Amino acid sequence: MAQKPAQKPAQKSAQKSAPTPSRLTVLAGPTAVGKGTVTAWVREQHPEIWISVSATTRRRRPGEQDGVHYHFVSDDEFDRLVADDELLEWAVVHKGARYGTPRRPVLDALAEGRAALLEIDLQGARQVRERMPEALFVFLAPPSWEELVRRLVGRGTEDEAERERRLETARDELAAEPEFDVTVVNRRIHDAGERLVELMRSGTT
Ligand code: 5GP
Repeated sequence: MAQKPAQKPAQKSAQKSAPTPSRLTVLAGPTAVGKGTVTAWVREQHPEIWISVSATTRRRRPGEQDGVHYHFVSDDEFDRLVADDELLEWAVVHKGARYGTPRRPVLDALAEGRAALLEIDLQGARQVRERMPEALFVFLAPPSWEELVRRLVGRGTEDEAERERRLETARDELAAEPEFDVTVVNRRIHDAGERLVELMRSGTT
């Protein structure tokens, strides 16, 4: 007990006041809210921002490139990454595949003074908050629940059972909004992306 680290929330508020351009930002939010699209917009419009490439055991979708959108790995390889403590966080998402953030590239980007962005699910965001409480936690919200459902159905990349699973996850994820430092509503990709970059730049909420 004597070796327990200082309370993390206190550390966090101390660091909140000092803008740090090389800060880590975590973007999370319900499924199908458009996290991937906003992140893709940031990648294209703001190449100065470093964006983490996650490892995943899910299958590659058409148009996705290994090493660009994800590192597509086998279950055995993911087991190894976990066993060797190479992941900053990891989670089973939508009760299916595993996804995780390779730790070393994140630390390297921050050490180089780059603003770094992780686009991950809520479980992962909670783990990062435990380990790197000084990060900025941004919740990407839909304009409404109806709009979220429309986006989820409209995407058409999942079957019925998968969609139901994702909706269930989305309900829980929406309820987590108060855990975040700031909410960005994704009405238009461009506006949400600009707001995200602005928050990353200012280093404060
Ligand atoms: P998709 O399979 O549609 O690309 O992503 C499914 C979900 O996995 C999204 O909510 C996305 O944010 C999440 N995700 C992607 N990479 C990671 C990661 O490295 N860690 C965690 N915890 N979630 C991730």
